[in-house]
Amino acid sequence: MSQPITDTFGRKHTYLRISLTDKCNLRCTYCMPQEDMQFMPSKWLMQADEIQTLAGIFVDMGVEKIRLTGGEPLIRKDASQIIRNLGSLSTSLTLTTNAVFVDQFIDDLKNAGVRSLNVSLDTLNEQSFKNITKRDHFGKTLDSIRLLISEGFVVKINMVVMRGVNDEEVNDFVRLTLDEPNLHVRFIEFMPFNGNKWDMSKIVSYNDLLADIGTQFSFKKLQGELHDTAHNFQVNGGKGTFGIIGTVTHPFCSGCNRIRLTADGKLKNCLFDTTEADLLTPLRRGEDVSSLIYSHFHKKHFAHGGHIDFTEKNAREDYEQNRRMISIGG
Ligand code: SAM
Ligand code: SF4
Repeated sequence: MSQPITDTFGRKHTYLRISLTDKCNLRCTYCMPQEDMQFMPSKWLMQADEIQTLAGIFVDMGVEKIRLTGGEPLIRKDASQIIRNLGSLSTSLTLTTNAVFVDQFIDDLKNAGVRSLNVSLDTLNEQSFKNITKRDHFGKTLDSIRLLISEGFVVKINMVVMRGVNDEEVNDFVRLTLDEPNLHVRFIEFMPFNGNKWDMSKIVSYNDLLADIGTQFSFKKLQGELHDTAHNFQVNGGKGTFGIIGTVTHPFCSGCNRIRLTADGKLKNCLFDTTEADLLTPLRRGEDVSSLIYSHFHKKHFAHGGHIDFTEKNAREDYEQNRRMISIGG
């Protein structure tokens, strides 16, 4: 076993998020620009065997959990193969998906030991789903969530809450958690990325969300753990839970254990850090990548890629230069 990946703040990085592609079958407005989106050529993408080799290196460095993301991870033609390969490693495996194609992967997911999936769903209204995603897959997404639960998976619904877009529906999502123990909802504060027209006024903050939920439900805060991104709560008498990922107003950077690998094999030490280390090119040349991994994490900032407040002028310059969320991997 190699040395763990530790930064200068003593944080040990044990959670690897691998993006399989920057392409997607949806067009969520908060995730990708509506025009001029250039996707990566296929030859830039890590191949299934390269993903497995890099994942193995990270596992040897102490990674305990792997999440597949994208873009939409399940649109890759070799997604089954990748899931099966990664299932053979000694880590837990999970996915973040829009779930449209999940019915084709139920056996692969079970065989790979996947127990829980994060599914994006931002509205319970069909027309609003079309407005946000620019696609017509509302019914399929709901069916997929029902299927996953009936097949015994735990589903965490991710809802990006945007003022004036879907904030009126927050309590409808909380209501979903009342009777279903395997359904959890996480409200995510809208985050700034290149091309997503972010503005502080579009955020529904952690405090605003709690105040809104408090008008309809009484709830308790649940005990958190060091690496949690969400502050979790449960409606009194409810079976599932709800959480708030307050990246902008309630950051969780002090317990960060996340490593991100983009679909083109670039290492990012934070969603908001614009610096990257290319692992794929040296891997293809047969060179050692371990020293690149350690040195990149040694440069990790304490919070938000070096920014405390996203309204600072230089923070805006940085996130405008950052990748689009869809090409980082959420
Ligand atoms: N396609 C998959 C999906 O939608 O679940 C995985 C990729 S998506 C980029 C991963 C997560 O990032 C999703 O839960 C999505 O809601 C979230 N996300 C994307 N853009 C975001 C933004 N600007 N602010 C907050 N969350 C965002
Ligand atoms: Fe696709 Fe997920 Fe981004 Fe929506 S949030 S465009 S489903 S990658």
